[in-house]
Amino acid sequence: MDPALLENPLVFWLLAGLLTAVVSLPFVLHARRKELETIEAREEASRYGLDIPASLHPVVDPGGCIGISNCVKVCPEDVLGIEHGQAVAVRPARCIGHGLCERVCPVDAIQLVFGTATRGVELPRIKENFETNVEGIYVVGELGGMGLVANAFEQGRQCIEGIVKESAKGPPGIADLIIVGCGPAGLSASLTALHHGMTFLTLEKEDVGGTVAHYPRKKLVMTRPVKVPGYGKLSFREVRKEELMGVWQDVIDRSGLEVLTGETVEGIQKVGRHHFRVVSSGGTYEAARVILAIGRRGVPRKLGVPGEAAPHVQYSLREPEVYKGERVLVVGGGDSAVEAALALADQPDTEVRMSYRREAFNRIKPGNFDRIARAQDDGAVEVLWRSNTTRIEPEAVHLELEEEAVAVPADQVFIFAGGVLPTAFLRNCGIQIETKFGQP
Ligand SMILES: Cc1cc2nc3c(=O)[nH]c(=O)nc-3n(C[C@H](O)[C@H](O)[C@H](O)COP(=O)(O)OP(=O)(O)OC[C@H]3O[C@@H](n4cnc5c(N)ncnc54)[C@H](O)[C@@H]3O)c2cc1C
Repeated sequence: MDPALLENPLVFWLLAGLLTAVVSLPFVLHARRKELETIEAREEASRYGLDIPASLHPVVDPGGCIGISNCVKVCPEDVLGIEHGQAVAVRPARCIGHGLCERVCPVDAIQLVFGTATRGVELPRIKENFETNVEGIYVVGELGGMGLVANAFEQGRQCIEGIVKESAKGPPGIADLIIVGCGPAGLSASLTALHHGMTFLTLEKEDVGGTVAHYPRKKLVMTRPVKVPGYGKLSFREVRKEELMGVWQDVIDRSGLEVLTGETVEGIQKVGRHHFRVVSSGGTYEAARVILAIGRRGVPRKLGVPGEAAPHVQYSLREPEVYKGERVLVVGGGDSAVEAALALADQPDTEVRMSYRREAFNRIKPGNFDRIARAQDDGAVEVLWRSNTTRIEPEAVHLELEEEAVAVPADQVFIFAGGVLPTAFLRNCGIQIETKFGQP
């Protein structure tokens, strides 16, 4: 090109414009592709019912977001997307509170909140040292609103270390602490108490491990390194459930920690300042302080139908192999029900039916949605839509199916109707509860 042409302002600006367009084209195309992905994700989320937040979820300030999508990239649960140059919570129901989006946003335009304007989430009021309004009762882990294995683990340790610093002694002859629950929060509280030579009891209604013990087999647990007093650092970032449980068991064995399992705590009475009486299914115990690490799974919701207390009716599935060759009915339509039905259908000669009150699965993970659809097509699982259980008998379950009474054969019944949060239990202990409507 004749260099003199560049001296013509029109040519110069035309060339400059062309160059800018060529350089920015890949960015524009990339942004457009991301937008299309977000639109697709939104449609999918609404199909699977993942567009409505269950509890904790990110909220983006549209005035503050600059759309650089760091938050989208760091979220391990794929909650966020980019639309119109801004981050949006596409699948808020998948949020389990990693909080990475909030941390990487350079302009503080993301906040994790509990509930929505119309759907409140109940949480116990706790202070910075994890103490509730009842002096001497502490809440750690997911019960306090902060989910995740590593957070629960950290809080258990920090709570006990805070108590050690206070070094307030209880009345002579009673234990320093009773720790209720032995999921990650209760386990780390117990190990820290042991490390500091405190006298304590850990009461757990099921087995050690809490919610982690109930994860589907071989689930990949996303976590971060945590410090275990007296043991060292557990440096996992991604670990299979079984491996994590194995390491915890090793920590327990080496430390000599004793956990009283099969003990459901039913009530806590304050007998005096730094003196509590804890009533459990296995006995009554006393301590100067009580740490509640009972999570948010609560107790399984019952159907309230005759026959529900029979021994062949259960609310969780640990070992599907045991039920091979049996006729099984799974009641419910959430992820737990679907995963249980699929695990049972994998067993040889097992007849699996599901009873669900709605006409389609809603709010389940897309992977489960596809797997259960395949299992139905293959005849491995039969789903009885719009059915309600009315009575359970030793070899049959009576259902109301589209207003007709039917009996389906069932040697085993698994009920997954959600959980009842331990709000009443907390209130009976005198702990104040607040309801959050889209607040941090
Ligand atoms: C499907 C699923 C996948 C998840 N994936 C991840 C993940 O990849 N990474 C991650 O970091 N987090 C994940 N989480 C979240 C994580 O599991 C929880 O945040 C964590 O387990 C909370 O620990 P916790 O100790 O507070 O409560 P929990 O683990 O729920 O433990 C509470 C314990 O208290 C016991 N208990 C309850 N009531 C009583 C009572 N009255 N008396 C005696 N004992 C009682 C229970 O039996 C239980 O053992 C996931 C959760 C779910 C449901």
